[in-house]
Amino acid sequence: ASGSDDNDVIVIGGGPGGYVAAIKAAQLGLKTTCIEKRGALGGTCLNVGCIPSKALLHSSHMYHEAKHSFASHGVKLASVEVDLPAMMAQKDKAVGNLTKGIEGLFKKNKVNYVKGYGKFLSPSEVSVDTLEGGNTVVNGKNIIIATGSDVKSLPGVTIDEERIVSSTGALALKEVPKKLFVIGAGYIGLEMGSVWGRLGSEVTVVEFAPDIVPTMDGEIRKQFQRSLEKQKMKFMLKTKVVSVDTTGNGVKLTLEPAAGGDQTILEADVVLVSAGRVPFTAGLQLDKIGVETDKAGRILVNDRFATNVPGVYAIGDVIPGPMLAHKAEEDGVACVEFIAGKQGHVDYDMVPGVVYTHPEVAYVGKTEEQVKALGVNYRVGKFPFLANSRAKAIDDAEGVVKILAEEETDKILGVHIMAPNAGELIHEAVLALQYGASSEDIARTCHAHPTMSEALKEAAMATYDMPIHI
Ligand code: FAD
Repeated sequence: ASGSDDNDVIVIGGGPGGYVAAIKAAQLGLKTTCIEKRGALGGTCLNVGCIPSKALLHSSHMYHEAKHSFASHGVKLASVEVDLPAMMAQKDKAVGNLTKGIEGLFKKNKVNYVKGYGKFLSPSEVSVDTLEGGNTVVNGKNIIIATGSDVKSLPGVTIDEERIVSSTGALALKEVPKKLFVIGAGYIGLEMGSVWGRLGSEVTVVEFAPDIVPTMDGEIRKQFQRSLEKQKMKFMLKTKVVSVDTTGNGVKLTLEPAAGGDQTILEADVVLVSAGRVPFTAGLQLDKIGVETDKAGRILVNDRFATNVPGVYAIGDVIPGPMLAHKAEEDGVACVEFIAGKQGHVDYDMVPGVVYTHPEVAYVGKTEEQVKALGVNYRVGKFPFLANSRAKAIDDAEGVVKILAEEETDKILGVHIMAPNAGELIHEAVLALQYGASSEDIARTCHAHPTMSEALKEAAMATYDMPIHI
């Protein structure tokens, strides 16, 4: 093993948590090394998650619009076809450019980048089996574990990434499956189901729970499910997957009601397993230094992201909290600020969630169910996009804004948006919540006309008073 100079910070994992922590640490003047085994930076999010899925969601949406909506806007096309290899190439180009971009940021900020598999030798030493072959030992005063998460496997299901795929395989199918079954109605399953549904697959989503996306406000969820059903996505809720097996030319699924009962056997061309993600710490040798994890395998940290082992920290998908890229980034910045002797802060109640289907669903703060459970007196203000002039002008008006505010103080408790671009619209609400704004604060803020954002203003008016346009 060749020694390496002492680092102030070593980050294991170059995903959104790890690479952001590494850049921030370097910006704070700390000598920093980031270790990544994938051969590319950006982690799950950039390589096989957020970015490639959004690329395919956009491309498939364009195809779908060209086929089904262009004519009504007076744009006539002789024929519209899917060129799947070209679609995949555009996705791969986006991913490739972005991963190289992070390498550039590492150089600019003088983050030392070691490509290889890291494992703990002690709380201040990481041994790296490098991708080139060989081994090196990196020393550091502080080590941040940012090793992320992996696909959760299901008993009775073996993923081959061809016919029984995880999200990774679903991002790289070689042809459009005729029949696609999606196991798990979380946002990943619904997004990937939307991609292939738009490209022509018959999509059925199987879910054990009684509802899709459990973190969503119940009323919005109902509307959202109806919208997906209109797009021909089928749902089998309260259904248990007993087994999934490949057959001569397809896949056979054995299902039964969640409550027990007769089994049903169905056939598909491809089955996507998207039943959640689990923290990834394999091969790290956490036991060697005694880092504590919970039953689910998540690394336990305090509010400064410190584990029970002095000098060892953890952030992102590998610790409890929402498993989202922007949350991992916030963790990374705050963790490094603490290490540098500054203050850091992440409020998990202020982390927005977005489902990037069409329409999108985005939310922040509490759902109506949560507000009820808290026993708070509250008001609800809603405004449908059918009454929003911009949405009508572009003929894309499915959706609603729903605001929950405390009755006595009018303080906003939660905002839920279903709309095209809801993922962009939500940030006004995130800022409002972060600053403890009232619904009247939003309502009295001038919003440009004609914009989708005006629906937020009108929903805010509806929360404490009356909207104008409905
Ligand atoms: P990761 O991104 O998982 O990165 C961890 C990195 O550590 C990996 O690159 C891994 O190779 C490396 N590593 C692990 N162990 C070691 C080791 N011992 N040595 C060296 N390197 C190691 N989130 C969103 O916010 N928005 C979205 O739209 C979104 N879409 C998604 C779509 C899909 C299909 C999937 C699967 C996920 C999506 N996510 C999305 C979730 C998001 O990808 C994760 O929340 C995010 O990547 C977590 O960041 P992280 O840095 O904690 O971990």
